[in-house]
Amino acid sequence: MKPYDVLIIGGGPAGLAAAIYASRAGLRYALVEQGFPGGQVLNTSEVDNYPGFPEISGMDLGMKWMEHAQKLGMQQIMEEVTDLEVGEDIKVVRTFGGEYTTKNILFCTGAAPRMLGVPGEDRLRGKGVSYCATCDGAFFRNQKTAVIGGGDTAVSDAIYLSALCQEVFLIHRRDRLRAADYLCKKVQMKENIHILWNSQVREIQGEERVSSLLVSDTEGQEKRLEVAGAFIAVGIQPNSGLLKGKVDTDSAGYILTNDHMETSIRGVYAAGDVRKKFLRQIITAAADGAVAIESIVAAL
Ligand code: NAP
Repeated sequence: MKPYDVLIIGGGPAGLAAAIYASRAGLRYALVEQGFPGGQVLNTSEVDNYPGFPEISGMDLGMKWMEHAQKLGMQQIMEEVTDLEVGEDIKVVRTFGGEYTTKNILFCTGAAPRMLGVPGEDRLRGKGVSYCATCDGAFFRNQKTAVIGGGDTAVSDAIYLSALCQEVFLIHRRDRLRAADYLCKKVQMKENIHILWNSQVREIQGEERVSSLLVSDTEGQEKRLEVAGAFIAVGIQPNSGLLKGKVDTDSAGYILTNDHMETSIRGVYAAGDVRKKFLRQIITAAADGAVAIESIVAAL
């Protein structure tokens, strides 16, 4: 079978924007995504910084992108990629379902939540430990929950949970939130959100399910916080494992690219949260996808 011009791996904002641009450019391409396209945004309760949509749920925004890409003829290979061969002019993408050849690969695999790394986290995952408030929040209706972290995700999650839960404890290791100013203002206005400053979770406790957290502050004071759910939002890590050792990355595993989204291997491009960049937002991921496709078109 004739090789594709490009196989886009990953269906978040970068991958879907790339699919839209690839359709418009008339490329022979497919989006390889094992699940429902949309990426991390599908787990975001509310997006209010994407131009044209002053207030929209992440799910609705993701659906709009998918409909847009499909309307332009996007083909999806709904399979999990297991291996990539990137050395030659023609690249090979292997999945559980088959093997596909392509002139270019565009890597848009995004990032995944980082683990907190405390005792109890692994054992109680899915039993009160969650990394997605919009996915799991409803299970904790009228109960007490905690969110760990101080960035945009943690603060948005706390706000989202405050509408469902009796009380929400936002546990942050410093005395200042990292989240955007408007989120910080919003969180302060919620009466059932209590911020525990300068505090770290030492252990997640419970037999069958989460029942409490062991929390210590910078003065060394320890206390047990009774909660039914622990939502961990301590940042993200790149999903770059498939390219590990094959292209240049930084020490955290983010793929290094130039302004054209080219990696250190000719014909391999990266776009969105998986690459090293200044600002990881929906808008910059989508922009990366567009730039990558235009670079590929120019090089074909
Ligand atoms: P983040 O900005 O990296 O924030 C991670 C937070 O977790 C920080 O407050 C950090 O504390 C804390 N943390 C990290 N390791 C920790 C540990 N071991 N123990 C306790 N706390 C720890 O991550 P994020 O909030 O997931 O956001 C990731 C990216 O997505 C950002 O660029 C963000 O702007 C973007 N995002 C955007 C939106 C939106 O625009 N609607 C929504 C969500 C996320 P320190 O502050 O002390 O470092």
